[in-house]
Amino acid sequence: HKPPHKWQRVLLKVSGEALAGDNAQNIDPKVTMSIAREVASVTRLGIEVAIVVGGGNIFRGSTWAGCSGLDRSSADYIGMMATVMNAIFLQATMESIGIPTRVQTAFRMSEVAEPYIRRRAIRHLEKGRVVIFAAGTGNPFFTTDTAAALRCAEINAEVVLKATNVDGVYDKDPRQNLDAQLLDTLSYQDVTSKELSVMDMTAITLCQENNIPVVVFNLNKEGNISKAIQGERVGTIIGG
Ligand code: UDP
Repeated sequence: HKPPHKWQRVLLKVSGEALAGDNAQNIDPKVTMSIAREVASVTRLGIEVAIVVGGGNIFRGSTWAGCSGLDRSSADYIGMMATVMNAIFLQATMESIGIPTRVQTAFRMSEVAEPYIRRRAIRHLEKGRVVIFAAGTGNPFFTTDTAAALRCAEINAEVVLKATNVDGVYDKDPRQNLDAQLLDTLSYQDVTSKELSVMDMTAITLCQENNIPVVVFNLNKEGNISKAIQGERVGTIIGG
């Protein structure tokens, strides 16, 4: 019997940039530790947490495509492998504080992690394990935001919680406009028509088609991850 939380099963998306923190070495262990601690606090309440990690702190396919003959697909496969590095690091941090964690990759790397098997992922979650989905969707030309939307729909999670380095979605670029306003709520339509840079179009339309709300929030503020997971108001909420 589970307590009545707003969400029973969530999909947390952690971008590579967020994992980098202010460390020049791609990954900031202070960030992975704070993610682990906050996730631990909510799994103790019985909320099931799946995580999709990005890889932009190590390698972004679109940046490298075309360099010295590197085609986009190969560049994207390198990017997907970068997400696996982040996933293994985050898993190690989680397990160091006693959270049972499984990594599942979208393409086989069986010596390193389990392959993605939907029903098995769900089983892990039901047993209270955290599941980290790595290697994005397994396909070039996609993003880990799209992987987050896809996995969320597949495992019947109720919300995509997008942890970023900004407080949420603004009506205009806050770095260029001092009067930029943080928005509390937005419709999917707002995001697509105003071209607000929340997530790419493939990801946001996948969320819209499946009525998956998206919460965009700042993971650098202590307590925000656990608040977001528990359904407290943080950042900007899009859709339902
Ligand atoms: N990527 C991909 N297919 C996917 C997910 C990711 O090809 O389904 C590649 C792509 O090259 C991308 C890189 O992996 O640039 C890292 O992922 P992403 O940029 O989404 O990470 P984030 O911005 O969240 O750090």
